[in-house]
Amino acid sequence: MENKLYLSAPHMSGNEQKYIQEAFDLNWIAPLGNNVNEFEKIIADYNSVAGASVVTSGTSAIHLALRLLGVEENDSIICSSLTFVASANPILYQGAKPIFIDSEPDTWNMCPEALRRALKRLNETNELPKAAIIVNLYGQPAKMEELIDICTDYEVSVIEDAAESLGSEYKGQKSGTFGDFGIFSFNGNKIITTSGGGALISNNKEALDKSRFLATQARDNALHYQHSELGYNYRMSNIVAGIGRAQLEILDLRVQQRRNVYKRYYEELSNLPGFYFMPELEGTKSNRWLTALTVDPNEAGVTSLDIIEALGEENIEARPVWKPLHLQPLFEGVPYYPHQENYSVSDKLFKYGLCLPSGSNMEAEDQERVISIIKELVKERN
Ligand SMILES: *Cc1c(COP(=O)(O)O)cnc(C)c1O
Repeated sequence: MENKLYLSAPHMSGNEQKYIQEAFDLNWIAPLGNNVNEFEKIIADYNSVAGASVVTSGTSAIHLALRLLGVEENDSIICSSLTFVASANPILYQGAKPIFIDSEPDTWNMCPEALRRALKRLNETNELPKAAIIVNLYGQPAKMEELIDICTDYEVSVIEDAAESLGSEYKGQKSGTFGDFGIFSFNGNKIITTSGGGALISNNKEALDKSRFLATQARDNALHYQHSELGYNYRMSNIVAGIGRAQLEILDLRVQQRRNVYKRYYEELSNLPGFYFMPELEGTKSNRWLTALTVDPNEAGVTSLDIIEALGEENIEARPVWKPLHLQPLFEGVPYYPHQENYSVSDKLFKYGLCLPSGSNMEAEDQERVISIIKELVKERN
């Protein structure tokens, strides 16, 4: 059997060991140190924001953002429905109440009209949410201008979940920099990885200092260990940050490589009937973290699941798109605002959606293999 082809495998630059060695040489193994400081600096510079605070995961970055915005038990928080569960779990950590918003077809991300409808209704009943978590799916920036305008109208703070969109751009501005806070993930399957980790970014330096305090057990300034607030052990280690420094140096190359992967799939498969690739909104640049598309079985003669199975038999990993959170058992009964009163876009994207292997280190012949398996299957069934 040939080696397994993953959806998105880690891709090292070769410089990681240098920074790890530096930490070892200085015996800066535990917790903070130069790699952490430098990694935070280059993340902030890359995204043109005032600062970054690096943590153990993207999830913990979202949790800290909620804490910094003062989110408490029974507060309402808006969140995109079509996303990974990690976008919304921190809402539950805080004992707050999620409200899910559907996607729109142009970016697959949060629908501005549905958001406006939700906030209008919540305003009427005096239940306005404290914050909105806006996700940029598979690297594609959401309609940030419209979404931020609506949130500003209702004085709702914004957390931009850019876990999948590091390096993407919206009207020339880096994804993740539009809200009060942005978060990135360096989990093993993301466009760059530290094996596990995340970052919180903001132009509010004071808030970032507070995040570092909360992320190190909220220790008061006293010789003895004194604590007045609830804290966490969320800070990134100096070793892990060393990997991050080397990874961020080649981020733009990784974006180009992922976009090339997308381009090849598009050129080879977009002519097949019923194959619709995830669009790239005009004025935006997606990092194309994953190549995503929908397959309409009525036109294609195959379902996305047929394709996933056929690839699986050849030891190739493909996946459906995220199961929308409003359909997850964990969030049963949570309010949901669809695109139109009786039409849910994310349900349809989930039903027909497909993510293809998109790693930046995927060999051209591996991608050829994926493409020919799909073409063969479609031919067989038609
Ligand atoms: C990966 C991911 C996260 C969480 O990041 P972790 O580092 O795995 O905690 C959050 N939101 C989205 C959309 C993600 O894809």
